[in-house]
Amino acid sequence: MEPKKTQQQDNGFFGQPAGLQTLFFTEMWERMSYYGMRALLVLFMTAAIQEGGLGMTVAVATAIYGLYTGAVYFMGLPGGWIADRLIGGQRATWYGGIVIMCGHIVLAIPSNTSFFLGLILVVLGTGMLKPNISALVGQLYDDGDDRRDAGYTLYYMGINIGSLIGYLVTGYLMENVGWHWAFGAAAVGMAFGLLQYRATLPKLGKVGVDAPKPLSPQGQRLSWAVIVLFLVALGTVFVATTTGAMTIDPVAIAQYVALAATIVFFVYYLSIFIFGNLTKNEAKRLGALFLVCIASICFWAGFEQAGSSLNLFARDLTDRMVGSFEIPTAWFQMLNSGFLIALSPFFAALWVNLTKKMINPSYGFKSALGLIIMASGFIVMFWASQAAASGMKVSPNWLVAVYFLHTVGELCLSPVALSAVSKLAPRRMAGQMMGIFVLTYSIGSLMAGLIAGNLDPENVSTMPDMYMQITLFGIGVGVVVFFIALKTRKWEELAGQPDPEHVAINANEPMDKPKL
Ligand code: GLN
Repeated sequence: MEPKKTQQQDNGFFGQPAGLQTLFFTEMWERMSYYGMRALLVLFMTAAIQEGGLGMTVAVATAIYGLYTGAVYFMGLPGGWIADRLIGGQRATWYGGIVIMCGHIVLAIPSNTSFFLGLILVVLGTGMLKPNISALVGQLYDDGDDRRDAGYTLYYMGINIGSLIGYLVTGYLMENVGWHWAFGAAAVGMAFGLLQYRATLPKLGKVGVDAPKPLSPQGQRLSWAVIVLFLVALGTVFVATTTGAMTIDPVAIAQYVALAATIVFFVYYLSIFIFGNLTKNEAKRLGALFLVCIASICFWAGFEQAGSSLNLFARDLTDRMVGSFEIPTAWFQMLNSGFLIALSPFFAALWVNLTKKMINPSYGFKSALGLIIMASGFIVMFWASQAAASGMKVSPNWLVAVYFLHTVGELCLSPVALSAVSKLAPRRMAGQMMGIFVLTYSIGSLMAGLIAGNLDPENVSTMPDMYMQITLFGIGVGVVVFFIALKTRKWEELAGQPDPEHVAINANEPMDKPKL
């Protein structure tokens, strides 16, 4: 028999497996549509009706925004599960993308009803696409392939190229052409993503074609029935609220979702330990991953202030005039994508070189480092807000420094954490573990919203204290994670080793058999 070409030899995309090209560009366009639309959301909802907006109050608009961003990532959990047990990652990504595109098309229709329907579709589609495409990246690599971290860093760069294009295009269209053209541009972006996904799908080979742990036919029927029931219930609530038969309070719902996401995260994780039929080896790996997830929640709770408290700091307390030009507030958020794109190749090379020198910092260590660097960005905010408390607008350089530190922290933690999920989670639950991980984005974003509520530019005198507390909390958690990581490092290392128990327990799951 002809020897099988190993995945190690496949280096068709910047030294990474060729399939990464497919996933890189699909996710790039998906993120273009996601961030491009997200950047407009609060502005559109709060703009007066005569300006073409929805004329909502800031409180309602920010609650809907928080709910939307929380829900997008919350739905990653069922999305990951559907791929693992029903349809496989490739199909989940494809159908998710189609639903997202439909959502943006609906948003491009200028009407109140279509606005909420569009948001719901984007939430459902992203829940299907986001965790599964990230899990597919990891499946391009063998267990022992040390290109994985660098591969995820490259993939993460695609995410940020997409967000940068999104901010630029929709920001321009919104100001110069009209809201709904900007929403339409997001739909076009997603369409590009789908076209190129389809065209380059063969590069993925067998990766993600089938559900790794399919349910029995009866279980599948039951699951589809539950999914249809859920969609019908959602549709009913939607119709009831748009016709006025039912009213919902977005602020209250946002709080419930934050709580629900946190409970679901812990309960789901625990139930995997109890009911997941894990070997000792797998249980330890998932223990190590849990630490990374906790670091991730704390990280995003700080980082996601970008769209809220840091955005308001830029608008109200920063001197944005350069000569006669006023820097648009939203441009500060582009600093993150810009720094990320510029620094990604450096970080990808750093991880590869460190590995070559046999220095292989653990996932836990890198997460702790990312958290500490991100938190140190808030020391800069402490100084900046002290300067602003004097009554003068402060230099934009403060925010440039903050975004720089936040981006360096992000590069240490975020792509690395994706890589950790794909390596430490048993392959049969790759999608759902990525779904659980994406829940950490959801919890972090919702917490960020709650924290930002205490950082009102009207009360600038209380800001330095708040920022100092965030700094100390972030650094404190980072140090604790660092010490625990000294222990979990050994558990992480089990990922590359054969698991003798596994064959006995899960003999019918060929994908997870130890490699000889
Ligand atoms: N920027 C990253 C992404 O879009 C992380 C998102 C987040 O809010 N955690 O995937």
